[in-house]
Amino acid sequence: MDRLDKILVSQNVGSRKEVQKLIKDGAVCVNGECIKQPQHKVDAVADDITVGGQPLLYSKYVYIMMNKPAGVLSASNDKRAETVIDLLPEEFQRPGLFPAGRLDKDTEGLLIITNDGEFAHNMLSPKKHVEKKYIAQLDGEITEEMISDFENGIVFADGTRCMPAKLEISGENPDKTTAIVTICEGKFHQVKKMFAVCGKNVVHLKRISIGDLYLDSNLHIGETKMLSELDKMSIF
Ligand code: URA
Repeated sequence: MDRLDKILVSQNVGSRKEVQKLIKDGAVCVNGECIKQPQHKVDAVADDITVGGQPLLYSKYVYIMMNKPAGVLSASNDKRAETVIDLLPEEFQRPGLFPAGRLDKDTEGLLIITNDGEFAHNMLSPKKHVEKKYIAQLDGEITEEMISDFENGIVFADGTRCMPAKLEISGENPDKTTAIVTICEGKFHQVKKMFAVCGKNVVHLKRISIGDLYLDSNLHIGETKMLSELDKMSIF
């Protein structure tokens, strides 16, 4: 059993404020009875919920976009450090949430938090070729040689070969130190290690897209929003 407003937020009906207004305005019924208390407890699976007369088709899975801040761990829980799950607003909280793919503690940007293990597996599997795009600020210039090394697959010191990656000089950066990097796998510290092989340090890293899903520019650092079915489909 969960609060009615929380269930509606989790199903993307609207923000907490919006769904509370809908409930107070009498637009929401549970088992045929109009409910005007947002805190009313409901069984999302067993009860029939309608919003404006339309049945709510409850999905047990949620997909949340976060603009991850630096300094926060991509983990579900940690004894000492703040995690991305700790940052979620109360109405998004539910058991089983985890970040689909880790960003380093000091990396910012697009992170997807879900409770759908199969979705996360598909998103992260190199076999699915889902492109992840990053903006990397470097301590030196990007060279033509680096661009072709990325294209040919960078080889780490331990012999691990990366899949071909795209390295571009950001158009807004005439001094050639800001890169746009596109990779379709997710090895540990991959982008930093790829640049390290080329003798460059990454001084700032931000993920901007996964597949065709881009970080919402309206999301301030640390903010989250529920993804729609359409958003989700743009990943694969
Ligand atoms: N590559 C990195 O080096 N760090 C990240 O957080 C993501 C990709």
